[in-house]
Order: sequence, then C-alpha cells, then structure tokens
Amino acid sequence: MEIRGTTRVCGLIGNPVGHSLSPLIHNTLADLLNMDMVYTTFQVESGCVETAVQGAYALNILGLNVTVPHKQAVMGALADIDELAKAIGAVNTLVRTPQGYKGYNTDILGLDRQMRDAGIDIKEKNCVILGAGGAARAIAFLCADKGADSVFVLNRTVQKAEDIADSANTYFGRNVVKALAIDCFADLPVQDYVVIQATSVGLYPNVQDVIIEDGTFYERAAAGIDIVYNPAETEFMRRMRFAGKPAFNGMKMLMYQAIAAFELYNGISVPKEAAQKVYELLERNFQNT
Ligand code: NAP
Repeated sequence: MEIRGTTRVCGLIGNPVGHSLSPLIHNTLADLLNMDMVYTTFQVESGCVETAVQGAYALNILGLNVTVPHKQAVMGALADIDELAKAIGAVNTLVRTPQGYKGYNTDILGLDRQMRDAGIDIKEKNCVILGAGGAARAIAFLCADKGADSVFVLNRTVQKAEDIADSANTYFGRNVVKALAIDCFADLPVQDYVVIQATSVGLYPNVQDVIIEDGTFYERAAAGIDIVYNPAETEFMRRMRFAGKPAFNGMKMLMYQAIAAFELYNGISVPKEAAQKVYELLERNFQNT
C-alpha cells in the first residue's frame, strides 16, 4: 500500500483500540480493491469524543468506526443518525456527509449478512438471544426488524432484558420482544428457535464456560450463532453441534460489520471474492494466536 497526498484516512475511535482487527480488514480491502484509503486507530479518552469527532471532520477524515466505550456518547456529535441505530441507541460507524457525520450501526448489518450466508431466515421464526448487553440489544432490534415472530431475551440480570423488551416493543409497536431470566430457559414456550449467544461467557481464555449447560436447550433449537469468535469453536457451538444442530461463530459478523462500514465510507459494494479473501485472512490470523 502506497500512501500518497490523495490518500483518504479512516479509523477507529475507542479505548482501548490496540487489539482491534479493523485495520487488518479495512487495509486488506483497500489493497484488494485498489482504493486510495488507509485505516488506523485513534485512542480517545471518555469526555473527548465530541472534540475527536469535530477534529476528524475538520481533518477531512472520510469515515470512522466507534467502539467501546463511545458507541452511545458519539451520538451527540453527529449531524444525522440512521433510524434503527437511533432506536438501538448505539452507533459504530460514522460516514462523512456535507453536513457532518451520519451514524449507523453496522454490527446488525454484519449479523444480518452472516445469517444470510448461513441460510438462516428468521422471518416469522422464533429467536432466542442469550445476554442483554450492548450487542444483545442491537441483535434484538435486528431480529424484530427482520420480522421474527417472537424474540426472547434471556439474561442473568433480568432487568436489562426487560429494558430491551420495553424499548423494542415501543419502537416496533408490537409485543415482539420478551424478557426472561436465563435460569428460566426451560420455560421458553417455543422450540425450533434460532439462538444467538451474545454474552461474553466462553470467550478466551475461559473457553470451557458456557451460559446454559442443559442439553435439552440445544436439542430444542434449530440453529445457533455465537457472536464470540475467539476461540473459533466455543463451548456453546460444541453443545449445539453435539445436539446435531448447525452452529457458527461471530467471525463473519465481525467481518461483515467492517465490510458494511467500508461500503458506506466509499459508496461501493465489496465483491464476494474480496470478502472471502478477508475471511481467510482472519481465520489464519486466529490460527496463529
Ligand atoms: P456487554 O455489554 O458487557 O454484555 C455482556 C453480557 O454478558 C451481559 O448480558 C452479561 O450479563 C453477560 N455475562 C457476562 N458474564 C456473565 C456470566 N458470568 N454469567 C452470565 N452472564 C454473563 O458486552 P457486549 O458488548 O454486549 O458483547 C458481548 C460479547 O459479544 C463480547 O464477548 C464481545 O466480544 C462479543 N461481540 C462480538 C461482535 C462480533 O462482531 N462478532 C460484536 C459485538 C460484540 P449481565 O447483564 O447479567 O451482566
């Protein structure tokens, strides 16, 4: 990659940012697609987000990704926000417009594309989301937006699941999201559900941990996605597969959220072959760690 006077800059703001795979994904895409663009990280302290966004705009930065802990705070610094991202209350992608940056949530676009790749259609199906953190909240909105029949949000702290249900049901104007304590999974009134594991349980180095141990939960499912991708096969995925059900990790969600951001920054569509190359690179990256 050659950096020239014309090279556009994109980057990630968050704290910490040193572990991020976004530079690898975006710079590989720029290289593969011959785009005059470079992507780096910017560590931004809490309380400095608005200044950082204003400075980035003044510096003609093309686009930004936003990660923990700034996904909510950044919303106050934007000219416009995508309607669903606003309802979710979290923005992870800023796209340059003549008026300022417009905010999007490409985490949900990433999971949506991963599900399409895997042949998982949630329209008029039941979804079960494990967890009620930031990722689970966005996923609950995605499932409702894609026409799921019911979306059950199961969490250790049930109040957080109830908060998600309240805001999603108000936004969609139907009683689509229901909250449940995670210990009450046996009370789920449905089966053949698509499960999305969105807690941090099972994340490296705690690779033996799993949020639900009981095998009947997995037997009653149709398919499962663990949004954790390190390790490549989580204990949740192992239990899904042991029950004979398809299971996927969160690597494609991660990759597609970056691809969606890259497409929004540059106003282009990334070809399947380039996405496949990035995916192979990410897989190799994890085999080497
Ligand atoms: P978060 O806001 O901190 O939420 C963490 C969730 O995990 C909460 O529901 C929490 O329950 C639950 N949890 C944590 N430890 C637990 C335990 N010991 N027992 C039961 N529940 C536990 O995190 P997040 O941002 O939503 O992210 C969740 C995971 O998704 C992380 O591992 C993150 O790396 C991954 N992720 C992946 C992608 C991707 O692109 N693949 C994108 C975003 C996030 P309580 O509410 O009860 O504390």
